[in-house]
Amino acid sequence: MGMLETRLLHFKNVYIISLNEGIFPKGKPAPSFIPYSLRNGYELPTIKHQDSIFSYYFHRLIAGAENITLLYSKQLSDKSKGEKSRFISQLEYSPKYTNKNISLQFKLFSRNSEPISIIKDDALLEKIKKIFNCKILSPSAISNFNECSLRFYFKYIAQLDEPKQLTEIPSEGEFGSIFHEAICSIYKPYTNKIIDKNLLQEILKKEDTIDQCIYEAMAKVLSLEINKSNISGYNVLIFRTIKKYITNTIQKDALDDNFTIISLEEKTSVELTLNENISITIGGYLDRVDLINNKIRIIDYKTGKPKNQITLIEDLFYSNKKENFSHVLQLLTYCYLKDKTANKTDVLPELRYIKQFNTKSNDCIFLDHVPLNSYYTSVKPVFEKMLIELISDIFNKEIKFCQTEHTQRCEYCSFAIFCR
Ligand code: SF4
Repeated sequence: MGMLETRLLHFKNVYIISLNEGIFPKGKPAPSFIPYSLRNGYELPTIKHQDSIFSYYFHRLIAGAENITLLYSKQLSDKSKGEKSRFISQLEYSPKYTNKNISLQFKLFSRNSEPISIIKDDALLEKIKKIFNCKILSPSAISNFNECSLRFYFKYIAQLDEPKQLTEIPSEGEFGSIFHEAICSIYKPYTNKIIDKNLLQEILKKEDTIDQCIYEAMAKVLSLEINKSNISGYNVLIFRTIKKYITNTIQKDALDDNFTIISLEEKTSVELTLNENISITIGGYLDRVDLINNKIRIIDYKTGKPKNQITLIEDLFYSNKKENFSHVLQLLTYCYLKDKTANKTDVLPELRYIKQFNTKSNDCIFLDHVPLNSYYTSVKPVFEKMLIELISDIFNKEIKFCQTEHTQRCEYCSFAIFCR
């Protein structure tokens, strides 16, 4: 029964399902050519009126009932972010319902599903070898295996499609891609040139060039026709935010001594022989490679929160560790790749958290609270050994692909819909 059909009816028992924000109430106005500001100004019905009508229907429906069951789902969908409806929160906090004759209970139901694990029989093992015979094993795939081997199986072996969230605003990944594209185009003309503070100030002054690089990056990533003359609405906010991050990145670069950008988005790969039967290629794209103080500096841009403090290199590899150090693992894997091709030059890893403003203090990896400024001397022996052991586990028949024990890793996993 729809909400409108319940008007003027009274029920002893009421069950409302999908009482999620975004579904009930919808929280979105009906499509209209009249913008909100004009509707408000001329006292036409707005989203506020729509919400208050549905609030009335809801409270009238439950007012006379003896037993009320309200259900909402934590599952993400194109209509809902898995958040309970504001009407449930109102009941939770309203003094009206603290009456001792009314009992409110909030219960969380979860599916009791059997643990999932995939045994590597001979056929599956052959399939894994065949896949990585033709396909490069990326640092991100290695990190996926480290976080949850079952997720690695779903993504890279079973090759299941990851369901895409249909949203009006760009995802964190798209946001990162726009930044990567734009900063790459801005710095491209300066590769293999010595970059100093004065040059960086000049780059910052060329606002039209920076703007154009951002428009082109947005057009490419969002598949939209965007340029200076037609950008509007939410895209203006994206543009301004990306520009702020780019300015911040260039200003941070100006804090360094002279350096040279050797490459941007460089494809690199290394052959690795695990045993007489298995040889694979590990590889990926390095965001930026610089030469600074006779060291090769690998910069990996990150849009998320800093997760760059580790106590021991071994901590990166223990899947039973609660913390997730995927940023560090991926960057050190890029260092491993570069080290193999860099002709004994030391490699300096740097994680650039682009949302962290005006400081460089957070941009390195901290090993036991000390900034890590050399892959070659401080990390290489232990990291290389453990990385190869981890990769070997992918092909180890005795090790099943199984669910991670740490359910917080499932929160943003595309496969959680059928896995958890
Ligand atoms: S939902 Fe959790 S356990 Fe399942 S594949 Fe994803 S991360 Fe692994």
